[in-house]
Amino acid sequence: MAKDEKIGFIGIGNMGWPMASNVLKGGFEVNVFDANTALTQKFAQEVGGRACPNLADLGERSDMVVTMLPTGPIVTNVMLEMEDGGLRRHLKEGTIVVDMSSSEPVGTQKLAAELAKAGVTLIDAPVSGGTPGAKAGTLTLMIGGEDDDAIAKITPLLETMGKNLFRTGPVGSGHAVKSLNNYCAAASYAAVAESLIIGKKFGVDPKTVLDIINVSTGRSLTSEHAFPGQVLPRKFAAGFSLALLTKDVEISGGLADACGIDAPVNAAVRKLFHESNDDQPGADFTAALQTWEKKNGVALND
Ligand code: NAD
Repeated sequence: MAKDEKIGFIGIGNMGWPMASNVLKGGFEVNVFDANTALTQKFAQEVGGRACPNLADLGERSDMVVTMLPTGPIVTNVMLEMEDGGLRRHLKEGTIVVDMSSSEPVGTQKLAAELAKAGVTLIDAPVSGGTPGAKAGTLTLMIGGEDDDAIAKITPLLETMGKNLFRTGPVGSGHAVKSLNNYCAAASYAAVAESLIIGKKFGVDPKTVLDIINVSTGRSLTSEHAFPGQVLPRKFAAGFSLALLTKDVEISGGLADACGIDAPVNAAVRKLFHESNDDQPGADFTAALQTWEKKNGVALND
């Protein structure tokens, strides 16, 4: 059924493309914008909606705006600075902006305060579930914001993309929880990688170690999907970059520091992921262990 609200969707990369596709399927009018203009035109041709040539065009046509961009500073740049004053200049009072990127929570609170001066409400609603969840419209959403009316208005939009919708508290709290979730995923990846490397050095086939973990107490989503699907076959193409996961772990560590919490496991995971990200610029997150294999003189596929 066609919906009344017009949606502006900014950032149609690995996640944004399938998410914007589901918003269109849900009956909303969709205006897309991406720094990669070829991508916006491809989207309009292959999926539908309007390819906006600039932020002004998108802003003037949209009642609600979704951002699905790499980092919080980029979201802030798009909102307040890009194209000589940012998208904010082109938004009607009462517009709701939903930042679904995995941004940094304190920056989100500052951006919300800036947008409020123009009568624009910012809600954070980062997602979990990866590209498969984005395609299926089954993402988990963490919704930060205390404006119940605004959240009620965006719920039909969010339901086109997500299945499990959680309210986490004030603006920025969705982004805080998202970073903590991804820190847990990164810690699990690092522990499984370390276990396979230790096992290999001791003489046990990595597949045997993984098969046992996956029917035992050590299993996790990472051990069940990323390792058998991407790591052992050396595909390294899950569609989520090592740079973005490292950013998420860094956000969670910053949060621990800001809260004065002693988090030694977080500190170790942060160090490991920075080390891999520096060593393998542009890699998929599933390739992180290649750095640790090299460092230890062990190759799982030998
Ligand atoms: P991506 O790099 O594939 O896509 C980002 C898009 O933003 C690109 O198309 C890029 O051209 C565009 N972009 C960058 N700067 C821009 C600007 N200034 N103006 C307009 N467009 C701009 O990233 P992704 O994997 O889709 O991730 C997006 C966000 O979602 C990140 O915050 C990431 O941490 C988070 N996330 C990713 C996954 C995943 O599995 N990929 C899962 C959950 C959350």
